[in-house]
Amino acid sequence: MENKRVYFFDTTLRDGEQTPGVNLNQEEKVEIALRLEKLGIDIIEAGFAAASPGDAQAIRAVAQAVSKPMVVSLARTNKEDIDAVINAIGDIDNTGIHIFIATSPIHRERKLGLTKEQVVAKAVESVSYAAKHFKHIEFSCEDSTRTELDFLCEVAEKVIEAGATVLNFPDTVGYTTPEEYIKQFQYIKENTPGIENVRLSCHCHDDLGLALSNSIAAIKAGVTQVEGCINGIGERAGNVALEEVAALLETRKDYYHKETGIDLKEVARTSKLVSRLTGIAIPPNKAVIGGNAFAHSSGIHQDGVIKDKSTYEIMKPESIGFHETKLVLGKLSGRNALKKRYEELGYFVNDEQLREVFKKYKDLADRKKEIFDEDIIALLETQTTKEKHSLYSFKDFSLQILTDNQYRAFVNIVHSDGSLIEGTGKGNGPIDALYKGIDGALQLEDTELVDYKINSISQGKDSIGEVFVKVRKKESLFQGRAINVDIIVASANAYIDAINRLKTPYENLSKI
Ligand code: MN
Repeated sequence: MENKRVYFFDTTLRDGEQTPGVNLNQEEKVEIALRLEKLGIDIIEAGFAAASPGDAQAIRAVAQAVSKPMVVSLARTNKEDIDAVINAIGDIDNTGIHIFIATSPIHRERKLGLTKEQVVAKAVESVSYAAKHFKHIEFSCEDSTRTELDFLCEVAEKVIEAGATVLNFPDTVGYTTPEEYIKQFQYIKENTPGIENVRLSCHCHDDLGLALSNSIAAIKAGVTQVEGCINGIGERAGNVALEEVAALLETRKDYYHKETGIDLKEVARTSKLVSRLTGIAIPPNKAVIGGNAFAHSSGIHQDGVIKDKSTYEIMKPESIGFHETKLVLGKLSGRNALKKRYEELGYFVNDEQLREVFKKYKDLADRKKEIFDEDIIALLETQTTKEKHSLYSFKDFSLQILTDNQYRAFVNIVHSDGSLIEGTGKGNGPIDALYKGIDGALQLEDTELVDYKINSISQGKDSIGEVFVKVRKKESLFQGRAINVDIIVASANAYIDAINRLKTPYENLSKI
């Protein structure tokens, strides 16, 4: 049984959040975690508790929010890190810890300055300590694919004795090949006493484009846990895209004969949510979830698909959760119609959420003639409770066009204590002037706008605009996003969202 079932370990909220410029707040992490639960993820790595009190708090919130998946936090091999995890989630059922130390010679010598013996000692000591508090202990040999095989076996044997229950051998730098990775797992299985009593896990990065091939090779070699991120986000070139692993195991069940807990119909929704909340767009040609993944443009292909879809389609778009866009609702649609449409789209809203989102919906319906599925999904997904905790919120603005083709913006911002802050700015266009006005109002001298993107949510000239920005302060990047039918208002809100993340202490995550 154990061999047939592949467990999915999602690290979108930890490795994925280490993508430069991605910083999710607590509400966003919980929203993604609830979606991962619907997707059928077995284990959610919700963060790195020792990174900051805010990270620890968010991990706790995730562990409290989900019921089915196990929630774990990353920790290094020291008591402080493990204590941070115990304090964050130690009292919550169905939680665990993920401890790691680098084992490769280059990391041992250059990064850690430790001998092999010292690495083993730290690993054993930390696992033994964690075992007093957690039943589920995953241990990772960081950079395993550049580590001496015998040393991997030695570390594995010792941490299993100390109480580790899952052994992960990550390809941290995306260096291995499928053949090598298979041999590595075979060697470990044959030469590590006790290995048959623990779950084996793979964790692949895509630096050479081999993350999926390496993950599936590991599964072929008998590994029963696969780690990755939604949409393949993560450090550098990213982690393996879990939706690709799931779609592969399902589409080629005839070949791999594996079972998973994944409900593929949830893939499209999960992928879109992660893309929206991280601001990382999905390339149109991306496997499984790209906008063109099911589009057929050549004449020969179209002819085949019209005669029989299976000529060129190995998966049905509906099986991944894609649905045809519909013109859904109008100005006169009521609350129940909105709720019903959300349910049809696979989104379950509670009464409070419905009340909030319905207000926004009415507001939108006053300004936009036709409302599409994408519009109401965007309303729901950008409706977090963040407004309640925000330090600053945008009130209004006015614009003046000056004689030299320049603009002047007058901006009003409300502080959380209720006071009004005014600013003016002059710039080359309305957005430039507006942002300078915000900078002036909030006295932002050392911040820099490094990215500004605008998308339309649905079709038509009156579509909602979605603005995504990145702001740099010293070495740190902060994201902001907002939607509005007025792109200037969306631009102001997105910028202020980024400033709020920058000013809120727990967003200052120290990244490992
Ligand atoms: Mn990683």
